[in-house]
Amino acid sequence: MSEVITIANQKGGVGKTTTAVNLAASLAIKKKRVLLIDVDPQANATTGLGFNRSDFEFNIYHVLTGRKGMSEVIQKTELEFMDLVPSNIGLVGIEREASEEKDFKLTLKNKISEVADRYDFIIIDSPPTLGSITVNALAASDSVIIPIQCEFYALEGVALILNTVKVVKQTLNKNLKIRGFLPTMYSLQNNLAKETVANLREYFDDKLFRIGKSDDLVIIPRNIKLAESPSFGKPVVLYDIKSAGSIAYQDLAKSIMEQKWAR
Ligand code: ATP
Ligand code: MG
Repeated sequence: MSEVITIANQKGGVGKTTTAVNLAASLAIKKKRVLLIDVDPQANATTGLGFNRSDFEFNIYHVLTGRKGMSEVIQKTELEFMDLVPSNIGLVGIEREASEEKDFKLTLKNKISEVADRYDFIIIDSPPTLGSITVNALAASDSVIIPIQCEFYALEGVALILNTVKVVKQTLNKNLKIRGFLPTMYSLQNNLAKETVANLREYFDDKLFRIGKSDDLVIIPRNIKLAESPSFGKPVVLYDIKSAGSIAYQDLAKSIMEQKWAR
């Protein structure tokens, strides 16, 4: 059975897309069958894998509006074990067009069920909003990973996403779990980064990812290779597999494979 994981945080630029793409790719190089679904109209996961926004006639928009089945929009990527459902700016209209429709919030869940048995993991990259697209993603998921950028005000706004998770749990998806909080863009030179991790340890210690069986946390460093790889259209494992950023995302993938359903 596949596990569906949404990467979500309504805060912009915290590392959602970087996490979605590189977690998916790190699972795929471990021979897990992965589907990455881009549900952000910005389509950064799509372009970060080397595609142009105009490459595909059909994308997630056509799936969410019922015009296409999920399997009709799935694309192969450079990694044998990883497929992509692309997005496109056209998706912005969907909140207005479809939000009136009864049951729209369960559309993605229903569409995923058409292809779920082909994959071990389905990773969803969500937009920096808590509108009906993100609600669709959470309603379709077994769990959510919340990236937290290591900076001032890092935890500000976390209550908002936690509240949305709670509401989705109460109304649409009682099995939704928080897989974990993931500190991102950590820099040793930055005292605020240390403070962010200390705060996460204080409030959410049991929801932080560990490296192997140790108590060491999986922390994504600020790493130039992670920032550069999308401009080459590649996940970091295909750009610089030995970089610190790549190793951290591989640690995350390992932790997720080991803790499957443990939470
Ligand atoms: P949005 O809310 O707009 O969707 P996001 O949360 O998906 O943003 P990303 O696009 O993943 O965030 O990251 C924002 C920017 O920071 C990007 O330019 C990305 O390349 C860069 N970035 C993300 N993580 C790291 C990292 N660990 N080290 C260096 N740069 C990073
Ligand atoms: Mg993004």
